[in-house]
Amino acid sequence: MVQIKDLKSLSREEVYRFVADHGLPKYRADQLLHWIYERYVADLQEITEFSKTLRSELANLAFISNLELRKHQRSRDGTEKFLFSLADRQTIESVLIADKDRLTLCISSQAGCAMGCSFCLTGDIGFIRNLKAHEIVDQIIAVNRRMAPRRATNIVLMGMGEPLANFDEVVEALWRITGLMGISKRRVTLSTSGLVPKMLELPKRAPDINLAVSLNATTDEVRSRIMPINRTYPIRELMNACRRYPLKPRRRITFEYVLIGGVNDSLADATRLVKLLRGIPCKVNLIAYNPGGQGSMKRPSAEAVQAFQKTIADSNLTVLVRESKGQDILAACGQLKAHYGKGAR
Ligand code: SAH
Ligand code: SF4
Repeated sequence: MVQIKDLKSLSREEVYRFVADHGLPKYRADQLLHWIYERYVADLQEITEFSKTLRSELANLAFISNLELRKHQRSRDGTEKFLFSLADRQTIESVLIADKDRLTLCISSQAGCAMGCSFCLTGDIGFIRNLKAHEIVDQIIAVNRRMAPRRATNIVLMGMGEPLANFDEVVEALWRITGLMGISKRRVTLSTSGLVPKMLELPKRAPDINLAVSLNATTDEVRSRIMPINRTYPIRELMNACRRYPLKPRRRITFEYVLIGGVNDSLADATRLVKLLRGIPCKVNLIAYNPGGQGSMKRPSAEAVQAFQKTIADSNLTVLVRESKGQDILAACGQLKAHYGKGAR
């Protein structure tokens, strides 16, 4: 018996092979890819370019899978959160943030996360499973389809999970996002907690996408306490990898720094941060800690945030205090926990 194939689970090459195996001309593969990744069809029957006969022939061989939207919330500030359920009923979240004419979609790369950062709700969940490439990409397709004719202009892998811990599927997803969906590499950013070997491999496998590094502390003592990954790849190794990271002209690495009251928000930290970043083309995103986890961490005071920002700006680094949007619907950084853990609905 022939197995019915989910076309979305196939790579481009596999779609070509599928078409060839069934005696169809090569251009049928291009048409399928176009309708799936640019027209966002949810079903083969929507491919109106194909005759009815061809559509029903194909339906015996293949189908198009779709993430199921289980919940959609809109924050007072306009931020939207989407809870999707996967074929095995696991759940993930994506967040859409509007800022002037920019529409940034923050997508997940894993259900849960194994990294265990103490300030992050996704870390609280622990690791559930890696997402397949199509489950990563389908978050964009589902949201874009819903808000047509608008489309996300920027994609950030900053939702649930550590993307570099799911390297192969993330690389394939990045390829589909930039190669098949036509989203410019300049508008795609991968954020990592600092898996150094994979960070160095990334530009070879997915060149020219933007890199963001969650630094979050300036001493190994503090960083190891709040980000266990630091025990494996301490700050010095991480910064060396950043220095070696190949960047195109005018491109920069983004350093994310979650300011936690009394933990990493002192002026001494700000000064050390400036030193660490010396010689790296970069910008700094400061994020005030969003509460919600099990731990007893505090938000930084407004004065501490301002003083920290000033120290960095005074040394001629680009620094931005990132507003945490969508807090009222638990859509802000570090607040994604889908349907897992305590308080799951
Ligand atoms: N795992 C990747 C990407 C997802 S986390 C990473 O760690 O980079 C996305 C960002 O949210 C990271 O920069 C992380 O430091 C930040 N973050 C996590 N918990 C947070 C919290 N409670 N408040 C503010 N930012 C948080
Ligand atoms: Fe994982 Fe990133 Fe959260 Fe750390 S901050 S637990 S790496 S999702």
